[in-house]
Amino acid sequence: MANFLDDNTDLNFYLGPGVDWDTLAWVTELGYRHPEGFRDAEQAKTFYREVVSAVGAFAAEEIAPWAAEIDRQGVRFQNGEASFPPRLEAIFAKMAELDLFGLTLPRELGGTNAPLLLYFVNGELLARADVSVMAHHGFHGGIAMAMLVLSLLEGSTEIDPSTGQVTRTRWPQEIADIASGRAWGSMDITEPDAGSDMAALRTVGTQDAEGRWRVKGQKIFITSGHGKYHFVIARTANGDSTPVGENAGLKNLSMFLVRAYEDLPDGSRKRLASLDRIEEKLGHHGSATAALTFDDTPADLVGKPGDGFKLMLELMNHARLGVGFEAIGLCESALRMARAYAAERRSMGKTIDRHEMIADYLEQMEIDIVGLRALAMHAAFHEEVGHKLELFGTTLPPRPPAHSNGNGHRNGHNRHAAGAAETARRHRAEARRALPLLKYLSAEKAVEMARLCLQIHGGNGYMREYGAEKLLRDALVLPIYEGTSQIQALMATKDTLGAIIKKPQAFLKRLAQARWQSMTARDPRERRVAHLTYLGMAAQQHVVRHLLSAKLKSVRAKPITAWRREILGRWNPREDFSYALLHAERLTRLAADVEISRILLGQSRRHPERGPLLDRYLARAEPRARYLYDEIKHTGGPLLGRLLQTGAAESARG
Ligand SMILES: Cc1cc2nc3c(=O)[nH]c(=O)nc-3n(C[C@H](O)[C@H](O)[C@H](O)COP(=O)(O)OP(=O)(O)OC[C@H]3O[C@@H](n4cnc5c(N)ncnc54)[C@H](O)[C@@H]3O)c2cc1C
Repeated sequence: MANFLDDNTDLNFYLGPGVDWDTLAWVTELGYRHPEGFRDAEQAKTFYREVVSAVGAFAAEEIAPWAAEIDRQGVRFQNGEASFPPRLEAIFAKMAELDLFGLTLPRELGGTNAPLLLYFVNGELLARADVSVMAHHGFHGGIAMAMLVLSLLEGSTEIDPSTGQVTRTRWPQEIADIASGRAWGSMDITEPDAGSDMAALRTVGTQDAEGRWRVKGQKIFITSGHGKYHFVIARTANGDSTPVGENAGLKNLSMFLVRAYEDLPDGSRKRLASLDRIEEKLGHHGSATAALTFDDTPADLVGKPGDGFKLMLELMNHARLGVGFEAIGLCESALRMARAYAAERRSMGKTIDRHEMIADYLEQMEIDIVGLRALAMHAAFHEEVGHKLELFGTTLPPRPPAHSNGNGHRNGHNRHAAGAAETARRHRAEARRALPLLKYLSAEKAVEMARLCLQIHGGNGYMREYGAEKLLRDALVLPIYEGTSQIQALMATKDTLGAIIKKPQAFLKRLAQARWQSMTARDPRERRVAHLTYLGMAAQQHVVRHLLSAKLKSVRAKPITAWRREILGRWNPREDFSYALLHAERLTRLAADVEISRILLGQSRRHPERGPLLDRYLARAEPRARYLYDEIKHTGGPLLGRLLQTGAAESARG
């Protein structure tokens, strides 16, 4: 029987020693206190493996064979509702039967309390079969989990410290509805005039004299937007008025949970928000992408008015991880399809996989996937452990030392509670650095690999029959949704350069260390990774120098004593950052290669058999880094000059 886990050595590494499952199980099981929970890490790990193996078989046997049919039939818009073909309905029913929608929810809320990482790994396996089915899985169980997380963050969920069980939460019925597969959920941000620019959102939330909230506005491109439960971002009042328009800002954005319809006793539904259409799109045909209108639809405010952007960022981290694993699944599919075809197809006396250029493409795809998966596992592990320590750290019992009988000490508990916050902060800092890199690189690589797969198929690749063109159509959305590639690059660059400007001494120290290590480290792999790190930091240093020298020019006329205040205090991200924004994508590519090499170096120290993978990754990353470094140093000046001139002319015209 085919199984997408069994045939994947690299993925198997992460289900074994490649991930610290003991720590993940510890924070997920809240120290093994739950009466129906696992007794120890071994029991938990056995269960985790069984789940992934079942999903690997399900994806290979019951989804992949129907991917072309799902693509052809897609979701239809009939009588104001979405209509799914029977094949998809059967797949969704099987997902519910396998408990996939409630996988990560606590047992007392109808779930099986698995780590989020398991859910993401399942996402990769499902995406290898068909990305639109994976999207269904992601926006379904994912929204139930979001309900719990948001309720924890706003303080409306309580946990019994003796058992680690949830005793109260704000939306138990809604969570149960989604976890059982009866209802669907979605995240509604995008509007006709506002996508990347959330400051331009126009949907409004208002409160009546009795304190009830209602939402009014139009949302488009909403994945699973045909469903019942919608997390809607809307603008709320600031004083007497609710500012809307291009520069209304992010401060007044609030988050609401809105029910788009009510289920009536006779089995029909009464719509509270109208479903305007199911979008006709290039790919992802098994996933419903909807446009809908809220017309004073009753809503639950989540958190406080104005918390919307902050809460959305929390959910966005998980969404970016989801896309990362989704992209890897698609890459895996592209590689395997291309490899199988190239091994059969003959040209000029041999199979095409023995022609140098094709062999090079295949080798590049293979090592890129190794790098992406390392980055994804790293980001997901740190995000999950950091997040769970932040949410539950103070209620977690101390972790017993390895091989002990499990009885902690009170002293240990106090130390542990004090250290949990700091440990959580370190984990989240790792995740924060890796997440935009993962979303950016995995999405871009998915498009690149789908295109290579099509190219390797030649004319057959352009025909529907072989499935390569479907992969490319499906891949093209990955750099667009959940924050475009350009927005990921902006976020990563602003974070990194902002930190350098705040603490230049610490940066210079790390830069000197990287240079020193690149020359003196005993291990040649360590030297190579240090050199790559040095190149990445040198590129960042060049950009920061450029930003500061431009700013210095603008304050030269002022007294030197005012420079510090002028430069740091009057920093205008729109104008003063333009050189960095111009190179943001190049800096991000470089940073992603550095991050992946650093992770693979760590793996090769703990698992020497992974060393050759690092060598292969470095062989491609090193020349890439030199090229990017040169591009950052030597291009873009004239273009920036022209843009500044245009901007100045526009301001002069008023
Ligand atoms: C299949 C599909 C499913 C989707 N699902 C959802 C969903 O579930 N929920 C939801 O809310 N939305 C969803 N979206 C919408 C998606 O998130 C947006 O399309 C995306 O955020 C981009 O917004 P936009 O389309 O308005 O493009 P714009 O924001 O207009 O961007 C156009 C181009 O300009 C670039 N750009 C914009 N600003 C900058 C800048 N400052 N610097 C450099 N470049 C910039 C962008 O990167 C892009 O290349 C979905 C979209 C698709 C196609």
